Amino acid sequence: MSKVYFASARVKKWRYEDSMPGKLERLLGELGVMNYFSPEEWVAVKTHFGSEGAHRIVRPTFLRKVVDALRRIGAKPFITDTVRIKGLDYLDVANQNGINHLSVGAPVVIADGLYGKDNVMVKAGELLGEVAVASLIHDVPAMVVCSHVKGHINAGYAGAIKNLAMGGVSAYHRTCGWKCGRGAMHAIGEGELVWSQEKCELCFQCRDICPKDAISFSGDELIWEGDNCWRCGRCERVCQSESLAMPGDSERFLRSLAEAASAVMSTFGQKKVIFINFLTEIQPECDCMPAADVPVIQDAGILVSDDLVSIEQASIDMLARAEALPGSLGRDSQADADGDVLGNIHKIPYRLQVEEAARVGLGELRYEIVEVG
Ligand code: SF4
Ligand code: SF4
Repeated sequence: MSKVYFASARVKKWRYEDSMPGKLERLLGELGVMNYFSPEEWVAVKTHFGSEGAHRIVRPTFLRKVVDALRRIGAKPFITDTVRIKGLDYLDVANQNGINHLSVGAPVVIADGLYGKDNVMVKAGELLGEVAVASLIHDVPAMVVCSHVKGHINAGYAGAIKNLAMGGVSAYHRTCGWKCGRGAMHAIGEGELVWSQEKCELCFQCRDICPKDAISFSGDELIWEGDNCWRCGRCERVCQSESLAMPGDSERFLRSLAEAASAVMSTFGQKKVIFINFLTEIQPECDCMPAADVPVIQDAGILVSDDLVSIEQASIDMLARAEALPGSLGRDSQADADGDVLGNIHKIPYRLQVEEAARVGLGELRYEIVEVG
């Protein structure tokens, strides 16, 4: 049974030690970062930079605490993510969201190059075959995976597995293009975009949000380039008139996330990756969306572990026990379904990604919570 260290978001005494940054310092001390990383060792601190408009990310103040903890043992940390939009623009988004060298105390670099094409093909599993792991993540010997836990349009729940899988794999490969990048996970259902012209209000949000420029308009006709579309579903999500549908296969998608996470993890040695899950500002959607809604569940706290499956299982169990916050999408979605808040919102069997991660050997489903006060 693996240990998952937990610190609650509640403040009992008004002092730094009881703050979230203060508790994160203690969590890292309890885990013992010196047992995982060495002096002079380069350590990637993998996070998600967010997007212009999605401000609910792992806050820079927490990244700074991770960097400080690594520097205290003489390691050489840097903050990194793979490109979601063009690399220079993505670095600008990071800066807008407060993540820069000055704020976090370490270089902020793109893991798969400014064009998102620097990667190495790595064996993944029976669904994906191989995927293009970002070269920096492939090459670096050690990593701290800092994940903002939230809901997700395709995954239902997004935490460390999603951060490793979608976040550790590039958008493109130089030879096989997007189909062996993270699009391989999205495209696994091979759905076709369905457009209803009668309902369409020609707002063009679908075209503007598309990361692949796969949607264009000729007059009032939507043109979809199916071969260029990686089935991320963003166009469907932003459409306000329900004119678009992108049918997918949730089960295969969730299993493919575990496979891709396994490919990323296979590039590290034993005990060279630790995980920090932030159960804070738990909004219903991915941090790559153009906006962040109000949290659907109250802040729970921070979890730290060296076991990917255990930390994900513990996070999911905590969220499943939580109530939906008044005035949030979580409360709006309660009426028509049983189950937990994220399950009610997305209706996706999201636990499957964790079960599959356990099946492929990424950790243990059974865990012990060690609360750090
Ligand atoms: S699913 Fe929609 S937004 Fe995503 S790549 Fe395809 S057309 Fe673009
Ligand atoms: S987002 Fe929906 S309503 Fe707007 S142009 Fe696209 S399909 Fe039409």
